[in-house]
This record gives sequence, structure tokens and C-alpha cells, in this order.
Amino acid sequence: KSFASFGFRPELMRGIQDLYYKEPTPIQEEAIPLILEGKDVIGQAQTGTGKTAAFMLPILNGLLEGKRDIQALILTPTRELSIQIAKEVEKLGKHLNVNVLSLHGGTDIDRQLSKLKETVHIVVGTPGRVLDHMKRGSLHFGRISTLVLDEADKMMEMGFLEDVEQVIVGTPSQRQVLLFSATMPDLVKKLAHRFMKQPPHLKI
Ligand code: AMP
Repeated sequence: KSFASFGFRPELMRGIQDLYYKEPTPIQEEAIPLILEGKDVIGQAQTGTGKTAAFMLPILNGLLEGKRDIQALILTPTRELSIQIAKEVEKLGKHLNVNVLSLHGGTDIDRQLSKLKETVHIVVGTPGRVLDHMKRGSLHFGRISTLVLDEADKMMEMGFLEDVEQVIVGTPSQRQVLLFSATMPDLVKKLAHRFMKQPPHLKI
């Protein structure tokens, strides 16, 4: 299998080539075709398996740069991870006009708010800070097409269940949900059961 087999747009292929990714990792090979079909997907994979690109490449491939609404939301447990994912978006999407914003605790909320006045295509953030913005009315996820729950087990461990649920409820019911988790404890299974539509469960 090669990246060319996914039929990605040329601007995205250039981003992949710039990073010297030769071939898809196993999780990418399995998950990307299903995600491109629009399916909800559970990916049980550890960090280091290439899971970030597994969900980000299909999101970037379907990106509508001219659209002003937020198109994808990625929830992640920590600020470090949020910043890291936003950086990966910038790299993979280097040849696309993509605007990504990382919303995490510990930084000035006013600065985040002023950035939100510009067009933002992809939001990455920790559940508490994302919910904070939703409650202030500074963020609307009513038009997103993809929601990613990254490191869902860690988010549950950190006590983010209620925040995650509240954020999900604020997204459209037809959006695609992608859930990545190293382990599948009961809380993660329940979350998947409640918010996902018959997702294939990939284990790497
Ligand atoms: P992740 O599991 O998402 O944290 O990714 C682990 C590392 O693998 C990151 O540094 C990625 O840039 C890198 N990576 C992701 N996909 C590939 C690939 N297909 N080939 C080589 N490296 C990759």
C-alpha cells in the first residue's frame, strides 16, 4: 500500500512527501479508507503508531478552504498534545491554506478569542477550554463535519467525561466521530456506544 492509493489531493501529497513519509503505517492503512468513506471509526492504537496523521490526512483531504465555518474539532487530554497536533496540521497541510487553532488551558483566553475572529478551519483543544469558549459564545461547532476524540482513555482518566459529553452534544448529529484510545475501559466504550454509529473497531 502507498499513500497514492488513497487518492489524496496533490497539495496534500506534497505535504506528505515533504515529511519523507514513505508509506502508510498500519493504523493509517486500515483507518484512512474507512474515514474517507465517512464511517465513524474506533482506532485502538498507542502513541507513536502514526494515529495523528491517520485522522488528520482525511480531514485535510476534505478541507474546504473557502468555507468560513469550523470544519473539524479534535479533543485531546493535554495542552502539550494539543499544540503537537496543531503543529502536525501545519506540516501536513503546508501546501493547503489551512488555519488551525489550538485551544488549551494555561494561555491567555483573550488572545485565543482574537484569533477566533479570523477564519479557523480546524480547532484542537482540551475539553475544559473548548467548553469554556462554547459557553462564552466564542465558538460554534454547529457546522463541523468531523469530531475526533484523541486519547479518549486518558481524557476519561483525567475526569473530562462531562466536559467531553457537553462538547459533543453541541455538535451536529450527522458529523463523523473518530475515537482513538490506547485502551478501551468501560467509560470509553460507553462514550462510543452513545455517540458513534456502528463504528468498526481497529486494533493495532
Ligand atoms: P503519532 O502516533 O501520531 O504520535 O505519530 C508518531 C510519529 O510518527 C510522528 O512524529 C509522525 O510525524 C510520524 N509519522 C506518522 N505517519 C508516518 C508515516 N507514514 N511514515 C513515517 N513517519 C510517520
